Amino acid sequence: MARTVLILGAGTGGLVAAHRLRRMLDKEHQVILVDRSPQYSFAPSYTWVMLGMRDARRISRDVSSVQKKGIEFLLGEVQAIDAAGKRVTVNEREIEFDYLIVALGAEYSSDEIPGLGQCWTFYHLDGADGLSERLQTFASGRVALVVSALPVKCPAAPYEGALLLDDHFRRRGLRDDIDIMVYTPEAAPLPSAGPKAGERVVELLSSRNVGFEHGRQLVEVDQRSRRMRFRDGSIANFDLLIATPIHACPTVLRQSGLADEGGWVSVDRETLATGFDDVYAIGDAISIPLGDAAVLPKTGVFAHGQAEVVSRNIAAEIAGAQPIWAFGGQGNCFLSTGARKAAIVTGNFFTEPTPDVDVRGPNRRWHWAKVGFERLWLWRWF
Ligand SMILES: Cc1cc2nc3c(=O)[nH]c(=O)nc-3n(C[C@H](O)[C@H](O)[C@H](O)COP(=O)(O)OP(=O)(O)OC[C@H]3O[C@@H](n4cnc5c(N)ncnc54)[C@H](O)[C@@H]3O)c2cc1C
Repeated sequence: MARTVLILGAGTGGLVAAHRLRRMLDKEHQVILVDRSPQYSFAPSYTWVMLGMRDARRISRDVSSVQKKGIEFLLGEVQAIDAAGKRVTVNEREIEFDYLIVALGAEYSSDEIPGLGQCWTFYHLDGADGLSERLQTFASGRVALVVSALPVKCPAAPYEGALLLDDHFRRRGLRDDIDIMVYTPEAAPLPSAGPKAGERVVELLSSRNVGFEHGRQLVEVDQRSRRMRFRDGSIANFDLLIATPIHACPTVLRQSGLADEGGWVSVDRETLATGFDDVYAIGDAISIPLGDAAVLPKTGVFAHGQAEVVSRNIAAEIAGAQPIWAFGGQGNCFLSTGARKAAIVTGNFFTEPTPDVDVRGPNRRWHWAKVGFERLWLWRWF
């Protein structure tokens, strides 16, 4: 019997799942990929866009190109999901599914923190592009990088941004006139990766004279006086404020009952199954608890790994075989540090009592590995 696998979201997780399923399933089965955006862009390169090292177009692709691989692409807004009734509404049209993979990522907002909406950010492509112009004329003063709230996608990216800015201003001969600070509500960098990884990032920051204050939850930004206030009452000045937006589970998932009280979609951490039959969720939209109140970081590498597991298991089930694949918490993420060097955060986040995660480098090898990965990714899925 012909089956329909519907994939919501054509970002990291959705793209991988759609390609894998299309290759594994017979032609009679339909693979439908839905996204509101016709364009995909490669987020790990946003920090390079910020520094003018990448053009926004170079890291963007048309999602509709997946159609040449036999994947049906539907450009539209996912408005409602009836997970129990196996129906999704896209642009007022109902689509029925046999299997559903939810890969809608995280939604951004800034309303809860006054003034945050007026800050610079490299957490989306337009923001990174805008910053590249702003940085051309910034020649002295304090640059503050602020993690505005948790969770935050790719928890290494704010630290990467700070180290790359240090390198950028050094190369322009301006570093002595520029102070770089990182503020975060985290107790230490990369809390889900365990204490060793956090210590290594702090060492990297201090070796480059980047100031670091942890435990600082932003509550207000006043752009006129260029001051920000934290929950503990402390105040910090800035001349250029670069902040991460507040992340939330997409509204449609909260409205459809797929998100739980914690605000994100709960899944079985090995199979990515939700509480609904044949409905799976992957990537940034889900929350997987680890020990010590930590959660699995929202990163592309995990969205990718989870997509591999879910697509293989669905294909096996459709073929009448046993779904045997399990997501194991293994992942790695590059952390560019400038001067054509990068570190890699690598290991297993599911090991107990603490994650077995290490920070290696920085060196040239990991920089070129990241460049190669960028190329491979944009070639492989488009
Ligand atoms: C600056 C930055 C640097 C990063 N660096 C790294 C890195 O080095 N390594 C790494 O592993 N990860 C990195 N990440 C994180 C990575 O990009 C994300 O974790 C990953 O893209 C999540 O994949 P996803 O499929 O869950 O969601 P996404 O890739 O965000 O895709 C979600 C898709 O759903 C669509 N969508 C959402 N709601 C709707 C709706 N209602 N209707 C229709 N479509 C909808 C969106 O348009 C989007 O295309 C970085 C992120 C940022 C911001």
